[in-house]
Amino acid sequence: MDEFADVVVIGGGIVGLCIAHSLLDKGARRVQLVEKNQIGSGGTDFALGLIRRRHADPVWARLATESWGFFSQWREETRDGLVTETSVAIISHASAGAAASEETPYRLSPQEAIDTSAALRARPRSLAMALAQRLRGKGLRIREGVEALDLRTENGPVRSVLTTDGTINCGACVIAPGPMREPPGRLLPSLLRPMRVPIVGFTGCRHPGAPPMLDVVRGVYIAPDGDRWVVSVPPRADAPVDADPHPPSSGEIRMLARALRHRVRDACPTLAGARCGIYDRTPDERPLVGAVPGVTGLFAAAGLSGSGFQVAPAVGARIADLVFSEPTDLWADKLRPDRFSEAS
Ligand SMILES: Cc1cc2nc3c(=O)[nH]c(=O)nc-3n(C[C@H](O)[C@H](O)[C@H](O)COP(=O)(O)OP(=O)(O)OC[C@H]3O[C@@H](n4cnc5c(N)ncnc54)[C@H](O)[C@@H]3O)c2cc1C
Repeated sequence: MDEFADVVVIGGGIVGLCIAHSLLDKGARRVQLVEKNQIGSGGTDFALGLIRRRHADPVWARLATESWGFFSQWREETRDGLVTETSVAIISHASAGAAASEETPYRLSPQEAIDTSAALRARPRSLAMALAQRLRGKGLRIREGVEALDLRTENGPVRSVLTTDGTINCGACVIAPGPMREPPGRLLPSLLRPMRVPIVGFTGCRHPGAPPMLDVVRGVYIAPDGDRWVVSVPPRADAPVDADPHPPSSGEIRMLARALRHRVRDACPTLAGARCGIYDRTPDERPLVGAVPGVTGLFAAAGLSGSGFQVAPAVGARIADLVFSEPTDLWADKLRPDRFSEAS
């Protein structure tokens, strides 16, 4: 039998959950979220959980700043350890001006500088699951193991979502599919470019209390994670796209071990696990958040690449405003999914 929902959210990662959260906060009643696997098992499970307000790009900085309150509040109210305080050390070229601190475990060359700022760290999948639990209590219907296959539209407006478990008739639909191995052509314009991101865990290093480090000079992210260190490398814009990520090669693991040894004093890295995540990048490296052109009532939040976890609350709030036809600020233009077609 067909179901009905005022809004269907496709995707049970942190972004879909934050969208549902904002919709419920605004008074939406019948909201259904469909997740083809389990809550938080997609890109969210790969996030290293760093939440920072400092970003080089003003759009990301704005979204991160708008999202900070959600995570801080979670930390203060729940004290469940899913969000904790930390700092982030950003290593850049010395022209940035900051001096290296004697206390840091990180090695710097004379041409490099380190700057530390306050940050938060989350346990992404656990937080997603806890948020899902909270939202169920507020009336959100979550259907795990249900895949959205297609959308039915009638002369413009979205009418229903076809899923592996029947049809959901709806007034609006939001797609938050996360990074995918193949362009989501069926549901979204294929603007997104999937990129493979190797992540390697090591043991055998000291300084377990050191803050995560964004090494802008070497292009790696190094973070203590319990008794391990996790190193990941952001893909370059010209790196080949691997549409079917497989574990990092031995060459990539050696490269990340070298980067760790180069940066962390007393590092003697021993491999403790390796896998590959995916970034989904847009042509201007900013996310797609807004109405999908040509279909009334259809919205999307995608292209969140390597910083989507920490901006999910702001993305959710913006989508909820749009679903409720509330005006958003001028910044919305920088995120509109149709911004590329207009530029061309
Ligand atoms: C190595 C690595 C480190 C990262 N570290 C950080 C970090 O420190 N801080 C940070 O902010 N970000 C980080 N990120 C980025 C972050 O992981 C993502 O941007 C974020 O988790 C995306 O969330 P999402 O909800 O959009 O996607 P996802 O978590 O992938 O959720 C989307 C969900 O949609 C489901 N889905 C897709 N299609 C369908 C369908 N048709 N029907 C039903 N369900 C569907 C998927 O199964 C998935 O569960 C990192 C990413 C990587 C790869």
